[in-house]
Amino acid sequence: MPRFKKVLIANRGEIALRILRACQSMNILTVAVHSTIDRNLKHVGMTDESVCIGPASAADSYMNIPAIIAAMELTDAEAVHPGYGFLAENADFAERIEESGFVFIGPRAETIRLMGDKVSAIHAMRQAGVPCVPGSDGPLDDDAERTLRLADGIGYPVLIKAAAGGGGRGMRAVERREDLIQAVNLTRQEAESGFGDDTVYMEKYLANPRHIEVQVLADQHGNAVHLGERDCSMQRRHQKVIEEAPAPGITAEQRAHIGEICTQACQRIGYVGAGTFEFLFEDGEFYFIEMNTRIQVEHPVTECITGIDLVRAQIEIASGEPLPFSQSDIQFNGHAIECRINAEDPERFLPQPGTITAFHAPGGPGIRVDSHIYDGYTVPPNYDSMIAKLIAHGPSRKSAMSRMRVALDELVLKGIVTNVPLHQRLVRDAGFKEGQTNIHYLEKTLAK
Ligand code: ADP
Repeated sequence: MPRFKKVLIANRGEIALRILRACQSMNILTVAVHSTIDRNLKHVGMTDESVCIGPASAADSYMNIPAIIAAMELTDAEAVHPGYGFLAENADFAERIEESGFVFIGPRAETIRLMGDKVSAIHAMRQAGVPCVPGSDGPLDDDAERTLRLADGIGYPVLIKAAAGGGGRGMRAVERREDLIQAVNLTRQEAESGFGDDTVYMEKYLANPRHIEVQVLADQHGNAVHLGERDCSMQRRHQKVIEEAPAPGITAEQRAHIGEICTQACQRIGYVGAGTFEFLFEDGEFYFIEMNTRIQVEHPVTECITGIDLVRAQIEIASGEPLPFSQSDIQFNGHAIECRINAEDPERFLPQPGTITAFHAPGGPGIRVDSHIYDGYTVPPNYDSMIAKLIAHGPSRKSAMSRMRVALDELVLKGIVTNVPLHQRLVRDAGFKEGQTNIHYLEKTLAK
C-alpha cells in the first residue's frame, strides 16, 4: 500500500502542529479542521486545506464525528490522525472512519474498546502476562459482603476506580473497612454521571509508587518494539506536570525486562500503532494500571533519547509499512525532560485564558519547544490550558536539568498568567534534582 497523499488532522493546538510537521516532512498533504474560535491557530495557517467544523464547544466541533467525516469526504483525505484527547480513544470514531472507507491512524477499533474499559484492559493484560496491581480482577457487584471480603483479602487502603475513568478522575481511596461500601456507591454514582458507565473495580492503593510508562510501536505484520520508559511521577491531582526519560534509577536489565513483557503483550493482543503501557513502580516491581492507545503529550522525551519520530512511525504503520527497525537497533542516548506549560494560575491552578503580547522561545543545544502560540495569539477558554511543551535533552540527567533551568529563565511569555514560575521552582528543587520522586512528591512540595 502506498503512503497516504493526504491526511486530515482531527485536533488542535500543539499536537495538530506536531502532526502537520510530520506530514510535511513526509510530503503528505494536510487538512486542518477547526472550530470557529480556532481560525487563527498556527497550523491552520500552514496547512494545505482547512475546514471549519463547528462552534467553539468541543462537543460540536472536535468531537463531532459526522462533521469530521464530511470534511474528509469534501477534501479527499485518506486518513485521519486523532492526536490525543478529543476522539483519540473513541472506538466508535475509529470504527466509523474505517466503515466510511478511510484509515484511522491508530489501533483497531476493537483494541481501543478493549483498552478503554480499564476492567477489560487489566483482564487482557493479566492474560498476556503483564503484572497488575492486586485487585478485584473484574467489576464490583452489588454484594456488599463480597466487596468487603475482597478488600479484606487485598488489605487496606484500597482504591475504587471507574472502569471508564480517565484524566485522573473517577477514583477514590478508602482507608477503613467501615467506609468501603459508601465509597463504592459514591464512586459508582460519579462514574455514572461523569462517564455514563457505573462500572467500578478495586485495586490495592499503593502508598508511594512512581509512575513509569513504557512506549511501544507495533506494525500490522506482527512486529513490536519498545522505546524504553518515561517517568511521569511529577503529578498534581493525578495529572502529569513534568515527564522525563529514562526513569532515574531504572537499570538496563529492568528496562529490557518490562519492555519485553510489553512487546509480547502487543503481539498477543494484535496491537497496531503507537501505545503506552502505564505502570506504578514500587519496591522494584511494576504494576500495570492502564494502556493508552494513542500518541501521548510526553512523547517528545522518548523521541529525544531514541532519535525516532513517533508521529512519523504512526503514519508509516497505518499505511501498512513494516517497522523500519528491530529492538536491537534502538539505542538510548542521554536524558530528556519535558515541562508542560499551561495558561493557568501557578498557585490556584485555575485556567487563565487571554492574549499573548510577547513570546520569545528559548533555544540552544538540546532545547525543543512544541507549541502553537505566537505574539498576539489569544488562548481561548474552551479547551485544555496547555499552551507549550518545553523539552530539554542532554548527555546526562544533570545536563538536561541545567538546560531546562536556563531555557525556563530565557522564555519570554507575556500577557497571560502561566505555570512557568512553578517549573522554575521545581527545576531548582533539591528532591526533584535528586530523582526517583514518587507520585505524591509534587503535591507535598506545593503544600510546603
Ligand atoms: P487516568 O486514566 O485517570 O489517568 P490511571 O489509572 O492512569 O487513571 O491513574 C492515574 C494516576 O492515579 C496514576 O498515575 C497514579 O498517580 C494514581 N493511581 C492510580 N492507581 C493507583 C493505585 N492503585 N495506587 C495508588 N495510586 C494510583
